[in-house]
Amino acid sequence: MGDKKIEDKLHALDPRFRKKIQDLFESINESVSMLYEVATHDEKTGLSNNKFFETILDMEIEKAKREQEKLSLILIDIDFFKKINDTYGHIKADELLKVLANVLKKTIRRSDIAARFGGEEFVILLPETNLKKAIHFAARLGTAIHSNSILKKHHLTVSGGVTEYKPNEKKKRFKERADKALYHAKQTGRDKFIAKE
Ligand code: GH3
Ligand code: MG
Ligand code: MG
Repeated sequence: MGDKKIEDKLHALDPRFRKKIQDLFESINESVSMLYEVATHDEKTGLSNNKFFETILDMEIEKAKREQEKLSLILIDIDFFKKINDTYGHIKADELLKVLANVLKKTIRRSDIAARFGGEEFVILLPETNLKKAIHFAARLGTAIHSNSILKKHHLTVSGGVTEYKPNEKKKRFKERADKALYHAKQTGRDKFIAKE
């Protein structure tokens, strides 16, 4: 039923019932929004969760194929997070995860998506973005992380792998290339982003 029809039916009701039904609608809407948030977001950081990210990734890959648009992916992993846990404790380490997540949120555009991929791993999907622009974005993100006073104080750095979707390739290959780039960044000193064509 359309909104207009619902409105007309509500107006035909006794005002007391109308108020009750409107309140009921409102509470259903709130519950649906809450369920949506819980189902699609990571509780700790408020970023998208892995499952939701995969759904978006599938959709964006389809779009990139169909419309021959560029699409880039950045995989991020906190450096020596085990040591950060050991040095500052789990509670502080959890706080740092949130601080980092907020830096990611602030740095991306509205059309990008940032997700918590696992414990201390994050992923950013950049639609309509080629590798050159993704590298540029990664540099900006690196600067934002380095200039955050809380992260700096706790010596938190990240490594990242950057890659661009190749026409018609499988999702698995796309992700594996980002993972390889990340591994390369870890192997060559961490605290950097490495791009792979
Ligand atoms: P690397 O630079 O090679 O990535 O080193 P690392 O210590 O970050 O790597 P490793 O994968 O060995 O360890 C990751 C650690 O992250 C292990 C785990 O205790 C910690 N971790 C994962 N998820 C969470 C979390 O939600 N909260 C906290 N406090 N720690 C977490
Ligand atoms: Mg890791
Ligand atoms: Mg790590």
